[in-house]
Amino acid sequence: MRYEGNIFRPPSEAYSLIVQATIGCAHNDCTFCSMFKDKKFRIRKLEEVLEDLATARRAYKRIDRIFLADGDALVLKEDDLRTILVKIRELFPECERVGIYGSPQDVLRKGVESLARLKDEGLGIVYIGAESGSDTVLTAIKKGATAAQITEAIQIIESAGIAASVTFISGLAGADGWEDHATKTGELITAASPSFVGLLTLMVEPMAPIYQEIQDGRFKLLSPLGVVDETLCLLENIHVEKSCVFRSNHASNYLSLRGTLPSDKMRMITELKAVQGRRDLLKNEYFRAL
Ligand code: SF4
Repeated sequence: MRYEGNIFRPPSEAYSLIVQATIGCAHNDCTFCSMFKDKKFRIRKLEEVLEDLATARRAYKRIDRIFLADGDALVLKEDDLRTILVKIRELFPECERVGIYGSPQDVLRKGVESLARLKDEGLGIVYIGAESGSDTVLTAIKKGATAAQITEAIQIIESAGIAASVTFISGLAGADGWEDHATKTGELITAASPSFVGLLTLMVEPMAPIYQEIQDGRFKLLSPLGVVDETLCLLENIHVEKSCVFRSNHASNYLSLRGTLPSDKMRMITELKAVQGRRDLLKNEYFRAL
């Protein structure tokens, strides 16, 4: 297998074969993100991707899941993605799921019919970094999409029969805007109703532009106990009817939460209330990681 630069994948793709269909991120502008700041975005040649798949087939007896990297491989033309998906089915009949990162704009450009065709060829899950439901936050972090566009993108993915796994970030509004961030994020999740929600907690590396904002005092980090209050407010504002797996059990989180909404909502709220004001019950800063 040939890999270029650092490889990132969603936590649930830990055991997947990772194949780079693109290098870097086409947007690459989010202020909190340092993942692809050292890569210039490009689409890999289709032959190279197909060669990597053939190499993997020779190397591995069984592949259950495949993840198409990097940052937003859904930017690829539908025809190219279909060629890759067809090759995956041909080479890996045992593969149960193909996943991909996509930006809201990629999804909106493709639309439901195109995604439904990709689903028919084996695309099973699209990961979207929504980060927040607040337009104030989305503008500040240069997400390049509004809450309305993100909501529509998630609805399109789910309408195409593909699972949408959507990531949000605690603490992204800092100490001053957490209530707006939490409330609007809960409202977005309610309106969009994705199959999966992942909640990370902001951790900043020096390569991320927001790092300088923190150094200059322009961005005030939310405290760990503030993150608990924010997460509580977020959960209280989620009112989904369709089942949604909610995970806040990433290495960056101060408290691990996991449940299926709406049935586990009250249990998770109780867990959060039990640690409000109790820094000693939260993860030590030293053990957090991205
Ligand atoms: S958060 Fe996602 S969309 Fe934004 S720069 Fe990073 S990889 Fe690209």
